[in-house]
Amino acid sequence: MNPDGESITYRGFRDKRRGGHTLVFRIDQHRTRTDLDPAASLKIRNHSPDGFQWGYGGSGPAQLALAILLDLTDKNRAQRVYHDFKDKYVSHWGDKWEITDTEIKAWMAKQVSLQCTEKCNALQALFADGKVPESEYMGGLCDVHFDEYLDRCKKEEEGVSE
Ligand SMILES: [Zn+2]
Repeated sequence: MNPDGESITYRGFRDKRRGGHTLVFRIDQHRTRTDLDPAASLKIRNHSPDGFQWGYGGSGPAQLALAILLDLTDKNRAQRVYHDFKDKYVSHWGDKWEITDTEIKAWMAKQVSLQCTEKCNALQALFADGKVPESEYMGGLCDVHFDEYLDRCKKEEEGVSE
């Protein structure tokens, strides 16, 4: 790890000579470069089985956002903020991009409130009326209400599959 505490860099490249084929790499503190693995993210949410994308707000970018955050943080926190991460970063990336874990963690720390806030209360009220998009709702919740939200989602999913 260098003195900045930066240890991981993510880098993407869109190969125009191969029909826009996308490559996403993870470079660790020893400068070892590997492909970013989508497997863990696909288990949680299958937005895009065809691979990672960026530069717009669709399903390929959502998959990439989730995969990067899962590499850096736990499942709950990743699920909670990846739509916001996609909107703020992934959807704006060009043909070549690079981002460090330091930048992502700094951003993430500002997104997640550990205690209930006015925003959390307001979102819950709106959500009860069915007015809030899922992604926005998840990002603004405190830890306690986010856990409740996940429980509710789980029950709903189980209800559907029965
Ligand atoms: Zn709350």
